[in-house]
Amino acid sequence: MLSQLLCLKYTCTGCGDPLDAMLQAEGQGIAENSGAAINMPCPCCGVKNQIVFTTDGEIHSVWRAREYGRIPEPSVN
Ligand SMILES: [Zn+2]
Repeated sequence: MLSQLLCLKYTCTGCGDPLDAMLQAEGQGIAENSGAAINMPCPCCGVKNQIVFTTDGEIHSVWRAREYGRIPEPSVN
């Protein structure tokens, strides 16, 4: 099986800290150099960063991932 260790370096969209993520890419996507996206929570501020990258290790964009479950409750009054 094809397997490749990717090291993605990016900047947190929340606090601006430089971060890196190691991940194992496997399968046909490597050969096809297709795009993928992962959500990585920042260890510093907790903001989830969505990283769009290709399997050659190149980052195409980083943005703040949508957060569900943080819908403010309506006021009872
Ligand atoms: Zn952060």
